Amino acid sequence: MREVRVRFAPSPTGPLHIGGVRTALYNYLFARKYNGKFILRIEDTDQGRFVPGAEQYIVESLSWSGIQFDEGVHIGGPFAPYKQSDRKEIYHQYALQLLQNGTAYYAFDTPEELDFLRKDYESRKETFQYGPQTRMGLKNSLTLPENEVKTLLSEGVHYVIRVKIPDHETITVHDLIRGVVTVDSALLDDKVLYKSDGMPTYHLANVVDDYLMKISHVIRGEEWLPSAPLHVLLYRFLGWENEMPEFAHLPLLLKPDGNGKLSKRDGDRLGFPVFPLRWTDPKSGEVSSGYRESGYLPEAFINMLAFLGWNPGTEKELFSMDELVSEFSIERVSKSGAKFDVEKAHWYNHQYISKKSPAELAELLLPILNEKNIETSIDYVEQVCALIHDRAVLIPDLWKQSDFFFLDPQSYDEKVVAKIWKAETPALLAEYISVLESADPFIKESIEVATKDFVQLKGIGMGQLMNPLRLAVVGTNAGPGMMDMMAVIGKDFILQRIRQGISKIKI
Ligand code: GLU
Repeated sequence: MREVRVRFAPSPTGPLHIGGVRTALYNYLFARKYNGKFILRIEDTDQGRFVPGAEQYIVESLSWSGIQFDEGVHIGGPFAPYKQSDRKEIYHQYALQLLQNGTAYYAFDTPEELDFLRKDYESRKETFQYGPQTRMGLKNSLTLPENEVKTLLSEGVHYVIRVKIPDHETITVHDLIRGVVTVDSALLDDKVLYKSDGMPTYHLANVVDDYLMKISHVIRGEEWLPSAPLHVLLYRFLGWENEMPEFAHLPLLLKPDGNGKLSKRDGDRLGFPVFPLRWTDPKSGEVSSGYRESGYLPEAFINMLAFLGWNPGTEKELFSMDELVSEFSIERVSKSGAKFDVEKAHWYNHQYISKKSPAELAELLLPILNEKNIETSIDYVEQVCALIHDRAVLIPDLWKQSDFFFLDPQSYDEKVVAKIWKAETPALLAEYISVLESADPFIKESIEVATKDFVQLKGIGMGQLMNPLRLAVVGTNAGPGMMDMMAVIGKDFILQRIRQGISKIKI
């Protein structure tokens, strides 16, 4: 196999959708697996769609996801520059080459003329295409006399250079996922390759750059499959057939119900992010949620994405990035669309959070505590995390599951009070206070022994004591084991909360 060089080539037209992150991920896994190179190229030839901040967003998203590049717009490399607007001068000569060998031509039709034709065709329920069937009736260098073309060019009128699609020819695209795809060229149109403002369009710039950057495999979303026959033709017209990359078009990411492509709008409508990071639209100010800010771990996000369109063929579902690199193969990428599943996204995050050590979890919880101005020791936070490590789905749940370790109950759950707080409860808890006072050291084992002796002496069930005790300590009937919790919170605070419960909880 030739040296593997793959690229992720987003256009900075807005925030990167998770489908784009998945494309980048599969390219990255492929590059790493074959000891190849992975390149980040920014395709910004369509300046009309440029969105400020999008490029930085792309770079930051991929870096948060743990997807690394060997060359690219943000790190440079031997084929720099990696941004198409900075490569503007490169493309003209290739457009000229196509003009010279007769596979492209100048077209002078104005936007108004073309618009008129489009509307005229529409009124007859037909679709206008600038192509083999129509080009000879239009205003271009194939129909105008040579000297008129020269005059127009020298006058500096606006023109475009269009590819000359062959009449009825079967074009074959070999796709590593879809197999052989054939298309009748009559279905293609004479796409614009270059404009008189000196900018190439996506098709020309993409093919030229893939060639110049020695790209071996083009791995991209299925939405680009219709462009592939044109790209195959361009490689041929430019005389680069032998260097043409192999193609792999990835399946679409579908809405959770399978009805259509997962769109940018779906996420916040259906209650999950479709963007890796939070994005604020620079024009409208509209905010879209991100995986990072919603409390997903990058490793869970990546594992979940890897499985949207690929599977290892075994039962194993948890894969680190290194494991994905060694297991990934293009052959196992599915042809059909992959349905986004929010439950599965939660499942992955829960798995990764619960596998973390108390020290790692403390690092995630500390920023939340800081935000709430809660001052405490790392040691205490780690002890808390050890007790709640499997209770959080998203990072903010670490706080929701542990707030009572840091704050006294502000209120008591009325339903729980009604169910378990009896007339004799205050006296029972008051007596229990003296039992706890004598538990020394105040560790789980000694609390346990003292408590068991106490309930035995009183002739009551454990629940009769533990339930109201939990209510006084936590404010409701949730939380980890009482003995563990009491040992971590500590004697003074526990006694204080029981006293507060006795005085504040009313039936
Ligand atoms: N610029 C294209 C995009 O925005 C790249 C398509 C390709 O990978 O060829 O996705």
